Amino acid sequence: MENGLSAASLTMLGDRLEQLERDLSDLLTTTESDAQPTPLKENASRLSRMDEMHNQSILRANRIVTKNRLIEVRKARVRLAEKDYGICLDCLEDIALPRLKAYPEASLCIDCKSKAETIE
Ligand SMILES: [Zn+2]
Repeated sequence: MENGLSAASLTMLGDRLEQLERDLSDLLTTTESDAQPTPLKENASRLSRMDEMHNQSILRANRIVTKNRLIEVRKARVRLAEKDYGICLDCLEDIALPRLKAYPEASLCIDCKSKAETIE
């Protein structure tokens, strides 16, 4: 099954996915050390420790979002290679080009995506 995307669109989206994969991996690499538990500083006040823990929990949550997106990007690149790209995994309709431009890793069309989010 093939999406009605033009070769030019597929090339453009493929490039964007490649770039996204690089950016997301870089982001995970650069934030890796900050996400490690820090040894307690001797003179740190209780308040600054709590601040630090709070910041770390935000950073970790962001890293989870980044990791999940990276997984989706990689899956999208596989679909692209297998010519399944741009087809909604749920209803098998084409995913609209503007949506793919905004989220090249999208695996659901906008209708199925909003249905999925309503159920959640
Ligand atoms: Zn769909």
